Amino acid sequence: MNDALAERLERLKPRNAATALDWLGRLLMDNREMSAWEHDTCTLPRGARRWRRRALAFAREHIRPLAPEVDLHPDDFDPRPLLSKAARGGFQTLIFISPIGRASIATYLQGVGLQVAVVAEEFATECGGLALRLMAHNLGIAPLILSGNFHTILRHFVPYYLKSTFLGSPEVMAYAITEPGAGSDVEATEGGAQAHLLTSAKPVKGGYLLNGQKTFISGGAIANKVTVYARIEGEGIESWTCFLVEKGMKGFSVGRREKKMGQRACDASELIFEDVFVPHQNVVGKPRSGWANNRNVLNFSRPVVGAMALGHGRGAFERCVEFCRKTYLGPRRLIEYQDVQIELADMMISLWAARTMVWHSCRQLRCYQSGSAAAKVFASDTAFKVCNQAMELMGDYGYVHAHGVERSWRDSRLSQIYEGTNEINRLAVFEHQQSTDFKNGGPNR
Ligand SMILES: Cc1cc2nc3c(=O)[nH]c(=O)nc-3n(C[C@H](O)[C@H](O)[C@H](O)COP(=O)(O)OP(=O)(O)OC[C@H]3O[C@@H](n4cnc5c(N)ncnc54)[C@H](O)[C@@H]3O)c2cc1C
Repeated sequence: MNDALAERLERLKPRNAATALDWLGRLLMDNREMSAWEHDTCTLPRGARRWRRRALAFAREHIRPLAPEVDLHPDDFDPRPLLSKAARGGFQTLIFISPIGRASIATYLQGVGLQVAVVAEEFATECGGLALRLMAHNLGIAPLILSGNFHTILRHFVPYYLKSTFLGSPEVMAYAITEPGAGSDVEATEGGAQAHLLTSAKPVKGGYLLNGQKTFISGGAIANKVTVYARIEGEGIESWTCFLVEKGMKGFSVGRREKKMGQRACDASELIFEDVFVPHQNVVGKPRSGWANNRNVLNFSRPVVGAMALGHGRGAFERCVEFCRKTYLGPRRLIEYQDVQIELADMMISLWAARTMVWHSCRQLRCYQSGSAAAKVFASDTAFKVCNQAMELMGDYGYVHAHGVERSWRDSRLSQIYEGTNEINRLAVFEHQQSTDFKNGGPNR
């Protein structure tokens, strides 16, 4: 490129061309050189903005250095020190209302999920498995909060908060709905009606005796407490009740730990219940309210899974950009080729669109089924697509462990499967909008 052309191009850049405008015109044109991350962060309410910045710093300092090794050798990893640091930083009490936790009334009014989602994305950008390890316990806690039962909330949360925040000794919680014969079934109405449920609770004096088995429970191997859903003996899923099962209860044990393809730093474990006595005080909310409670937990958790997926996609995207900046193809660096620029921009646009959906679905006092399911589907499909694009651009280097893109690719694949497969989530969208949009075609028909 000759000097005259270079100078002309410089003059034509919007930032420089803007000097020709009146002051008001200049004021109305945003030419700040700012990353998309910063732009997005500025649009958040104050609380979520602060947590996004904190989570970015925490993820870089504490998650990034662990990620490659933990992915290779998950069984050798002791998560306690990391959990402890996260607890001290307030990341384990994000959804408790202040002064018990880190959410204000305003946080709840603006959508508490947003605060959790921004943290989930930052953690997952560095490592999907460690992000799941740190975030899964919010899922374990959610049934207690969403039960709406103050007694349950206060009894179980005050001691939790004190241990978690001041002693940095978090009580990790897990969430257990999936059974060997009932995965998607317990996440959708039609499936629920036909589910073959193994786990049941028999009413006895002072409480219930729990028998059965749960599978694929994230964080189940180390959880101190698990919110377990079981039908009342002799009844169907309508009687589902949520029980808080504690480590050390007689008859409760951890079985097989799955060998996973992605998000390997977090275990997915089998939980076994053999005549486990659960006292009345450990029933979460009202008996027989479990099905409704479970559906609402999914409404709140699915956008967060979408946010984690965004993190997998963004992790791959960022590593790919770095690769394209450093790698030469012939005389020029990869990033100087226009078709590479188009591909990178496309990846960024996809992630941006998905983030908009995730944040939109979180910005609700009450997350709703179709919005949440749609965000989860779109973000996880987008993340997998972006990981594929990154791998494509990086060729051999995308496929090897050292660059981290194949790890994000494996991590992102799981977000299309758990929290209900994306097919089930599509059905959840249909179910919720069936009597409106799918009946009469929308508000104007
Ligand atoms: C690593 C991992 C971690 C997990 N963590 C947890 C956890 O912490 N807690 C927990 O409770 N569960 C957890 N799960 C379970 C997870 O949510 C379920 O596995 C998931 O919902 C899929 O269920 P399934 O495997 O039984 O699929 P299935 O229900 O057997 O589905 C098989 C296939 O059939 C399709 N399908 C099913 N029904 C329909 C239908 N009606 N119409 C069209 N297609 C259909 C599905 O989309 C899928 O493609 C985890 C799973 C994994 C793999």
